[in-house]
Formats: sequence, C-alpha cells, structure tokens
Amino acid sequence: MDQTNYFDKNYDLISSYINLTKGRKVYIGTKEDRVCRFCDRSSPDVDFKNIAHAIPEFTGNKSLVAYDECDVCNEKFSRTIEDHLAKYLGAQRTLAQVHGKKGVPTYVGKDGKTRISMKEYGISLTSYEENPIYEIDEEKKSIKITAHRQPYIPAAVFKCLVKMAISVAPKQDLSSLKHLITWIGLEAHTYESLPYRPLIVFEQFTPGPMPYSGVTIFLLRRKGAVNDVPYMQFVIAFANTMFQIVLPMLNEDSEIMGKPIQLTLFPIPFSKDYKYGNTSTKKLDMSSFETIRNEEQILYMGYESLEKNPP
Ligand SMILES: [Zn+2]
Repeated sequence: MDQTNYFDKNYDLISSYINLTKGRKVYIGTKEDRVCRFCDRSSPDVDFKNIAHAIPEFTGNKSLVAYDECDVCNEKFSRTIEDHLAKYLGAQRTLAQVHGKKGVPTYVGKDGKTRISMKEYGISLTSYEENPIYEIDEEKKSIKITAHRQPYIPAAVFKCLVKMAISVAPKQDLSSLKHLITWIGLEAHTYESLPYRPLIVFEQFTPGPMPYSGVTIFLLRRKGAVNDVPYMQFVIAFANTMFQIVLPMLNEDSEIMGKPIQLTLFPIPFSKDYKYGNTSTKKLDMSSFETIRNEEQILYMGYESLEKNPP
C-alpha cells in the first residue's frame, strides 16, 4: 500500500496547519475566559501575558499563537523541553536560515572560534586549519559540514514534539492526552519516561534551500473501525526536516503494544528526482534521559558560488 493510501485508509486528520509563514496570526483558543490547556488554571491563578507560540519560534513559526497556554507553562516548556529540540537541530538552523526570536542563530563551534553565520551575501563559514569543519566538493558544488551539537537530552526532544501535538489537538481529544500532559510537565527527564519507551522519532531530511518554506503540522487519529495501527501520530515539517512520532497511548494502543508494527512514513511533497537531491530518512531512538554531549552533526549543503575571505 502506498504511503498516502495508508494514511487515508487508517487515519482522520484532526488538526492541520499548512505552510505557516510570517503573515497573519492564527490563534488557538479564545482571547476571553482563558484556561490553560496544560495546567487547567485560569486568571488570577496564572497570567497569560506572554505570546505563547504553539510551535516554538525557532522552527520558523511566527504566526500560530496559543491563547490557552499560561505564562507558567510557557516558560517551563521553553526551558525544559524546547531548548533541547533547538540544540538537537543545532547548526541546521543556521544553514536552513530559520528565523527565530533573535533572527538566524549563529553556530559557534566547541573551540569558540569556528562559526557558521548568516550574512547579507549568504552563509559565512569561519574555520581554522587545526579544526576544519568543512570539506568542499567543487564538482558537485556541495559542502560537507561537520558540526557538534550542544548538550541535549533525547527524551526531552521527544517530549517537545509531544508538547506541540498537544498544543494543536482539538479540545475534545485532550482528555485522552492527559497522561502525556502530566508527563511533559515533569521538569526532570528521568525514569518517569520508562513506561513510554522506546521513544522513536522519524526524521526525513530533504536537502536544498528551505524545501519547507513555512511550518506544516498534521495530527492524525486512528479511524473508528481500524485497530491495528497506532492511535495517534504527529507530523511536523519545517526548513529541511519532517519529524514524525507516534504518541504514547497506553490505553488506546494496549492491543498492539509489544507487537511488531510496521510504521509507514508520512508522504513528503518531493519527488525522487528533486533537484537538490534525495530525501534521507533516519529512525532515531530518543528514549535516553542522559545528556548527550558533543554529538557530531554532519550536514551537506549545495552552493551557488563560493568566495574565500569575503569582506
Ligand atoms: Zn498552564
């Protein structure tokens, strides 16, 4: 069965946002009588003064804003989980030129001197002979960059994707997501993640300049008559990457727990002969709650022209 048929046959699309870009703001929830969908509190117990981006700004989302995320939860998620996804994306955010709160971030290597930054003329790479970070293939007009990620916790990256799924879930589905709301709200990434393991993330990486120019999100729920696929899946695509996870649903998925499930990748909108190259797929096990340090991140990018020692 092809990928599109698999999703059509088994899932209902219960929430979707296509190609969110800078333009008009899109709001989740209502401005009046705000209640936080994560902690159930309302004013005056909590404030709603922050602009809560339902999907973190570092993905390029400027427009999808949650009225129903309080300042306490917003601040906590940004510190305890979103920061880990940002670090996992690492140098990719610079190379893909994803604009966050403070513009396109500059990548600084572990030696404190190596840099990848965005300039007016394009992307600037500063590297030193004793610690080169790039190799140039002039024939293919491609650069291989070896960067290193800042320390991050894999389970927190997974929780960040779960948080986004909860942010966009329809209100009537929140009751079935209660256990996950509790889980992502725990500040420490420790043993408590065990019941939900393994935490698998599918990452489809498409090369080239910003193949996904905006942020696209899908939340899918299993159709009523189906019982042999996971209950809920979340997909987000931005810049060069599409991430896909199965939400850990202990009750709804009790029938299929422990059985081998063949997961189908969400279809991508790029053909096999996409001009910047093929999409590569990784199955990442994000179950660990140990901090990963100094992880190598290898990225390939094409270029139009190269200039050594630009002004
Ligand atoms: Zn809250």
